[in-house]
Amino acid sequence: MPKTRAGQADSEAEVKPASGKPARDPWDTPAMRQFTAFKKQHPDAMLFFRMGDFYELFGEDAVKAGEVLGLTVTERTKGIAMAGAPHHQLSTYLRRSVEAGLRVAVVDQVQDPAEAKGVVDRAVTRVVTPGTLVDEDLLEGDRPGSLLAVVQTEKETFHAAACQLSTGALELLTCSGESIRDEIASRDVREVVCPATADDEPPAAIADLVRTGELALTARPGWRFAPDTALDEVKKQFGVKTAEGFGVRDDDPAIAAVGGLIAYLRETQAVGEAPVPGSPARTLAHLRPPLRESEDGVCRLDAVALRALEIERVLRSEDSSAAGSLVGVFLHPPGGVRCPVRTAMGKRLLRQWLCRPLSGAEAIAARHAAVETLVEDERLAGEIDELLSMIQDVERIGARVALARATPRDLVGLARSLSTAPDLAEAIGSSPALSGVCGSLVEIADDAASIAERVLGVCVDHPPASLAKGGLIRDGIDAELDEARRLKEDAGQWLADYQTRLIEAHDLPSLKVGYNKVFGYYIELPSAQARRAPDDLTRKQTLKNAERFTTPELRTFEQDVTTAESRALEREKAIFHELLAEAGERHGVIRAFADVVARLDVVSAFAATALRRGWARPEVTDEPVLEIVDGRHPVLDELLGADFVPNGAGLGDGSPALALITGPNMAGKSTYIRQCALLTVLASAGSFVPAAGARIGTCDRIFTRVGADDALHRGRSTFMVEMTETATMLHNAGRRSLVVLDEIGRGTSTLDGLSLAWAIAESLAETGCRTLFATHYHELTELESRMTGRVRNLHVAVKEWQDEIVFVHEIRAGRAKGSYGVHVARLAGMPRSVTERARELLETLSVEQAGLADAAKSVKAKAEPQMSLFTAYLEHPVVDELRGVELETLSPLEAFDLIRGLVERARERGERS
Ligand code: ADP
Repeated sequence: MPKTRAGQADSEAEVKPASGKPARDPWDTPAMRQFTAFKKQHPDAMLFFRMGDFYELFGEDAVKAGEVLGLTVTERTKGIAMAGAPHHQLSTYLRRSVEAGLRVAVVDQVQDPAEAKGVVDRAVTRVVTPGTLVDEDLLEGDRPGSLLAVVQTEKETFHAAACQLSTGALELLTCSGESIRDEIASRDVREVVCPATADDEPPAAIADLVRTGELALTARPGWRFAPDTALDEVKKQFGVKTAEGFGVRDDDPAIAAVGGLIAYLRETQAVGEAPVPGSPARTLAHLRPPLRESEDGVCRLDAVALRALEIERVLRSEDSSAAGSLVGVFLHPPGGVRCPVRTAMGKRLLRQWLCRPLSGAEAIAARHAAVETLVEDERLAGEIDELLSMIQDVERIGARVALARATPRDLVGLARSLSTAPDLAEAIGSSPALSGVCGSLVEIADDAASIAERVLGVCVDHPPASLAKGGLIRDGIDAELDEARRLKEDAGQWLADYQTRLIEAHDLPSLKVGYNKVFGYYIELPSAQARRAPDDLTRKQTLKNAERFTTPELRTFEQDVTTAESRALEREKAIFHELLAEAGERHGVIRAFADVVARLDVVSAFAATALRRGWARPEVTDEPVLEIVDGRHPVLDELLGADFVPNGAGLGDGSPALALITGPNMAGKSTYIRQCALLTVLASAGSFVPAAGARIGTCDRIFTRVGADDALHRGRSTFMVEMTETATMLHNAGRRSLVVLDEIGRGTSTLDGLSLAWAIAESLAETGCRTLFATHYHELTELESRMTGRVRNLHVAVKEWQDEIVFVHEIRAGRAKGSYGVHVARLAGMPRSVTERARELLETLSVEQAGLADAAKSVKAKAEPQMSLFTAYLEHPVVDELRGVELETLSPLEAFDLIRGLVERARERGERS
């Protein structure tokens, strides 16, 4: 065991039982008592307890660390398990802990061990939880990683505050049980804080997410969420007398969640304390005022749609990166192409724009105009790109400045980023289209430049990762620092000069000035000359042939040199803290800069991608249409290149709004319907689209029902999931919605499935929402003639050739000729004997089915043209009788008699059948 792990002060040493005496309780030592006290304050966290060069974990924490973090578990003393991580690897272990959904309380030494009398002072300097990460090495750059505080007023109503501590974003939400899951998905929520309850059960709506470990749940005392306490917390945090200035009423139930959230942040971030003496205290100054995000102007994609359309990540992929998704088109372009989004802020905003596209034609067209400016003006685009490339994640650096966790590199990075403000302001200002979408930097450019100038003037160009050894502040900035540095550097020269001076002054040619570790600096004379030593030389040590002396001047020099290093470091720290405090006062500037840069970065990435891939500017309209000429799937197009077959679309505006797409498996149905939805998302987010041309109507919501998603719903049957999702769609889809359905009714019997698919298609066609419905039920193609003008058949063409089929991936009008299931099975390598037998069976069954189809037609013939095939079964004499009732002339008494008569007849009939 390394020496430092035994504890550096005597009082921290292990307890060894004196022979013959009973062993003392191993927990009853000063250090372990300190540990126990911290543990009591943070019972739900693993305690990383700093001892010398290690963070130690004890008892149950150590055992857990062994299992989850892979640390070796030993025994501190008999009965206390111990596991330790070297202090410089703290962030590695914090990351592993957080990934495993654990909380960690970091206990640091807050006193120099050399000055400690007894056990060294320690304090919990932060609590790291999955939802409160701010350190760059713990965060994924382009993922928001949010914390959600939630209070529940009624059974199904949640009031919530969503916060990204790492950027300061704070929003109020009110959601239902279902939509809170969407918020959790789209905001990348890692942790939920809610008032403690008697049974400690998570709210039912998110229970499964907590159980599977996707979400950490933290319960905190209910009083923190009480409206009055919470409102006080909000007022204190933002220095206001009322929240109304933020457009939020003081009695808004979500204030309770914000209050609980702020209290939790104070608790975990040790707000108000300084991490080291002299540094600015930690604040939450970077938190933005709580805003209620309005759904107005937003095209909603719920969690199901985000997953099914693979907006952020790919279904069924173990890989959590965005590669292969729509976001990935911009963030992970194929080999060799540099990511067009230059800043981390841009990457996060890109996700937001693609997950929450716009629903107003004007706002969308404004983004398209901004993109077009950069597509057309390559010089401007190049200049902006170069400036953006110099900008670091100032939003997150701003958070670390507030929380007193910024490093020297953060500070210099911030300054270098802010130094681009004047040039960026000019570039953006040159185009009204750009400044309209991105905002202006004119007002803050001077402020930003002055912060930059101040910091860059004081700090070196290549700052160290930490200040532990100094090296951040330039020479010539601070006289005391320069002096201290010079002393250190010039020590050798000074000694040589001093030696010469003494030799000459006293005529002692053999005099030497030297240094050794034990005795420090000395003046040495051979014994023979020692007698001639002048009076101001004090004897220090006698050697065999020499005498060693010292002088007051040498002693002063010695003291100066030995303290020079620490004095230099102290000065550097003081100046660093001064700069941080100055930057900390300019949060408004940092925030405004970050906002503009993020928007500009996304617009610039849209433009760069449009140029690189030859995408076209779509025309947007508030009419419910979807017209695409030669559209391409944004992800597959990149993968397949020239092999990708473009396809168009034409829904609405005189054409039927519902397209039924049939065709064999593997023909390209799913690709096509997703492609249509993805182009709508891209266009609504403000991007150009992979098509020769497009006219895209805005959407209020996009709904999907796609089979491959089923694996994600544990514990609910596939069919149940399918029906639940479809129900949500049918209840909510309106004329301005886009619906994508990939196979419906597969999880039940064929007749059940067909009936449901039929009724669903009918209902959607009646609503008139733009719908792309891929199905293998060929019977549904009947709807085209039954609902003329509302339903249109499309199919994916295949070529038949010598009993084989070839996929051509072309979407054409009309229904598919067949399912070609047996052909596809053969392509998949099914044994020939099986495919041959299947073909025989198919022939027999087809004959039988033809009979069935005739029967069905006869039913259909009786029904009203607009009535569904199966409503015929619902015909009932009682219904006939109702048709004949003249409501206008019916008295209340007659009405009652009528109802009684009807009920009796219905009951009679029910009993008979
Ligand atoms: P389906 O839904 O009809 O079973 P998919 O949409 O899954 O078929 O497509 C099957 C495969 O065909 C895809 O993996 C893709 O590689 C290819 N494909 C689909 N559409 C096209 C296209 N337009 N051009 C080229 N290849 C395509």
